[in-house]
Amino acid sequence: MILVLGAGYGGLATAALLAHRGYEVTVLESHETLGGCAGFFRSGRYSYDVGATTFSGVLADQPVGMVFGELGITPALVQQDPGMVIRMGERDITRHAGKEAWIEGVSQMFPQGDQQGFWNRLYEIEARIWPLIRSFPSLPPSSLVDWLRLAHPRGWKYASLGMGLITSMRSLAASYGVGSDAAFTAFLNEQLLISTQSTMERAPWVTGAMGLTYPSQTYYPLGGMYRPALQLMRHVQQRGGTVRFRERVVNIERVGARYRVRTDRGTEYHAMMVISSIPVWNMAEITSGPMQRYFAHHAQRNTHAWCAISVYFALDGQPALPTTYYQIHLDTPLPFVHANSLFMTVSPAYDDEKAPRGHCTVTVSTHARAADWEGLSQHAYQEQKRMVEQAILDVIDARMPEFAGMQRMHVESGMPSTWVRYTSRHRGYVGGLPHDIGTPLLRMPPNRTPFAGLYHVGDTAFPGQGTPAVMLGAWNAAYLCTL
Ligand SMILES: Cc1cc2nc3c(=O)[nH]c(=O)nc-3n(C[C@H](O)[C@H](O)[C@H](O)COP(=O)(O)OP(=O)(O)OC[C@H]3O[C@@H](n4cnc5c(N)ncnc54)[C@H](O)[C@@H]3O)c2cc1C
Repeated sequence: MILVLGAGYGGLATAALLAHRGYEVTVLESHETLGGCAGFFRSGRYSYDVGATTFSGVLADQPVGMVFGELGITPALVQQDPGMVIRMGERDITRHAGKEAWIEGVSQMFPQGDQQGFWNRLYEIEARIWPLIRSFPSLPPSSLVDWLRLAHPRGWKYASLGMGLITSMRSLAASYGVGSDAAFTAFLNEQLLISTQSTMERAPWVTGAMGLTYPSQTYYPLGGMYRPALQLMRHVQQRGGTVRFRERVVNIERVGARYRVRTDRGTEYHAMMVISSIPVWNMAEITSGPMQRYFAHHAQRNTHAWCAISVYFALDGQPALPTTYYQIHLDTPLPFVHANSLFMTVSPAYDDEKAPRGHCTVTVSTHARAADWEGLSQHAYQEQKRMVEQAILDVIDARMPEFAGMQRMHVESGMPSTWVRYTSRHRGYVGGLPHDIGTPLLRMPPNRTPFAGLYHVGDTAFPGQGTPAVMLGAWNAAYLCTL
């Protein structure tokens, strides 16, 4: 039996692939339902995505496409065109799905430098990354064999991308003469923040290219982000696997050749193989000895992870919008918000699982810091939460005239401690490990740990955050653990 810890996209994708390949799988999940950061909650007639709302990487040769393709599952996804609208001051920047249309549009809006050259380069980098990733499932190399595989002539053609792991997006933009315009820089920074969790100064240009091309290729999952995850879970169950909710893992220990995994229900599980999607910070809390030191080492290298503030509401109308995804730039900073934008998803008219006909649900999220929310009295916490929630709603009211005349049916919000409660993630750290030129991708915790039979997936392991990356980690782990 293989134990998989966590029923977010990392855990469920791994479990589904293993069950599909004939392995007996048991998934342990601390929350009462699936999805983790890409989960959902219901309130009355409305259903809300809690965090993640956009799918990408769904083509046959991309991670989501590869996983669902092997499983023979077709999630109900609706491509958005435009993939996103970025509302900056008085103008809307439309991320057309077609590459040419987007490059044409961005070149007109920001005419300085060689915009065409810059964007063509980003698309060219993105196109080279997918085959690289498919060719080397043991990235990042963690053994001599892995390094030898990477040194194979097949890998040489990708060598030039290596510089892009330690060189910033700022440098790449500068080399095309597009990095000095303040508005364009602000645009790039906020796009990078939602994809790489970094800005131009720190984001490596390799992952930055993935992050900057993704907003043109977004897919809306009908019913919500949890829907494809539900298909993964059913796949596990149909193949004899088990998914146990309300089972928080409190200890992982090596006993002889097996792992003993204890949960807060007092249950013990024994398995030769454990695949954990529990974040590194939490793993350091539930392990001991060399395992603890390993995860603590990675946790300590990544103490600047982001938290999220999220606000949810329903509208008694359906605004006419060209896309479900908006990034709204802030004119002035908001209290306790550590980004210059809000990301907003409005459920479309064709999704009647999210809201009754003629209504819609809205999820707004932005970046926060754990320290702002710790050590507060209950009163101070509630006061701060109310202030942030109101500030975000005020921005939406001011910047979304499309909502005029519609009533907000109710409002709920999530602060970092809410994320701790629902996802168990240490300090409410979500969004994985920020991509940074100082801690290159190849130094991320690999999917294969140094401990035989223990694998690590999810957004704090290679290749990082976002559902496509997490599903790629799942793909790699499912391959490596059955070699
Ligand atoms: C606000 C926000 C917006 C985002 N937007 C997008 C987006 O639009 N598109 C996109 O692709 N990505 C987005 N992301 C990122 C994406 O949601 C995550 O990277 C991805 O869902 C992480 O999946 P995971 O399986 O690694 O972790 P999680 O989703 O956190 O899943 C881990 C699971 O493990 C469980 N768990 C934790 N500890 C234990 C324990 N001790 N015992 C048992 N179970 C445990 C948790 O309850 C959880 O269900 C967003 C994230 C946030 C926070």
